[in-house]
Amino acid sequence: MSIDKRQFSRTEQKYINRKLEIEAGRRSFHVCVLICVAMPFLLMNQTVYAQGTVVGSTSLFLFAIEVAAVICAFIGYCSCNRKSFSWLNRNVYMAVLAGFLDLTAALIHNTLVTLLLFSIAAIAIAWAMLWEEKHTIIWLFGQIGALVCVSMIHGWNSYAVASMVIVQGFAMVIALLAYRSYIRKIHNEYYLRRAVHDAQTDPLTRLCNRRGLEERVSGIWQLCQRHHIPAALLMMDIDDFKKYNDEFGHPAGDACIQMVARQIKKNARRRNDIVARVGGEEFLVVFTGMNMAQVKDRAKAMRDMVYNYKMRHAVAAKYTYVTISMGIAYTDFDSQVEFKELYDQADQNLYQAKQNGKNCICSGKDTTATA
Ligand code: GH3
Ligand code: MG
Ligand code: MG
Repeated sequence: MSIDKRQFSRTEQKYINRKLEIEAGRRSFHVCVLICVAMPFLLMNQTVYAQGTVVGSTSLFLFAIEVAAVICAFIGYCSCNRKSFSWLNRNVYMAVLAGFLDLTAALIHNTLVTLLLFSIAAIAIAWAMLWEEKHTIIWLFGQIGALVCVSMIHGWNSYAVASMVIVQGFAMVIALLAYRSYIRKIHNEYYLRRAVHDAQTDPLTRLCNRRGLEERVSGIWQLCQRHHIPAALLMMDIDDFKKYNDEFGHPAGDACIQMVARQIKKNARRRNDIVARVGGEEFLVVFTGMNMAQVKDRAKAMRDMVYNYKMRHAVAAKYTYVTISMGIAYTDFDSQVEFKELYDQADQNLYQAKQNGKNCICSGKDTTATA
């Protein structure tokens, strides 16, 4: 089962890829542990392998390969989770480690041909463990290769082959079930996150809507209050927008709203800045951790960028180009102030800015001159 990644945004893809990567490591680790637990039982069964010291050492080789695979998968799992080996190609790293462990086993038991073939198998295993579903096939081939080698060198043992296939098959089924349930979980997580995101986003401008604003403000307001981090609300409204709609039509009006939203957003890029569309052509920006001078600078930049975009306004409008008016309300939380109070204050200041001739900013005490 695989996801059609094209249906996701780039950020979503990154998230899913990372999740899958972690899961691939975890899955292979579980499978390896399972096999490793099963392997001694197979080795203990005298009917599985023929008698003789060489064959006995072959069993040890097989066991060494599985141990190598477990260690490789574990390192892969850790590196997937912590990204600590990202500077090194993981495949090579795993392959070398698997080969090294096999070599150690070979030096002890001195059956070089078996060693060589098993090393190749171990490399395939190590490779397979760390990647997605298709590489499990390589792993499977590695295991089959190992079985064939044992059979070629020490004679065919159908019971051994059958036992191995059952153990491997069992492990594969467990791994596959875990993988499938995980994929379902990713899908559910994705759709839930998408639903929450859509419910809090304005489709025209991709800014927060009122619900999104409430959600984000509730997350930061108490924190600002507790630590006396200043907060500023900038309420904005496009000037003479009815006239714009009347002259250019509603679709052009929508494009105008989008343009204004973009200019505002360009000046509110910090992670904690909140930009919301709170009415038809009304926007609210929430800044935290800025002094009043900085807030005013941002506000002026927003107003100027809208004006300098030079989007032609209706003939009957006051200005040649589209403009916005702005009301600012600011608190440094010296006294307790609720978000609603500050919101109303910003709204009143916006009203004042409209009264003062539009295309201007009012922060209660003063009004910035029009362009
Ligand atoms: P003022 O300068 O005092 O703000 O005058 P105004 O004409 O802009 O007045 P107001 O802010 O009340 O205008 C709101 C208008 O915005 C009314 C409505 O037709 C228009 N509007 C609201 N939502 C949308 C929308 O989504 N798209 C478009 N094209 N127009 C909208
Ligand atoms: Mg307006
Ligand atoms: Mg309005």
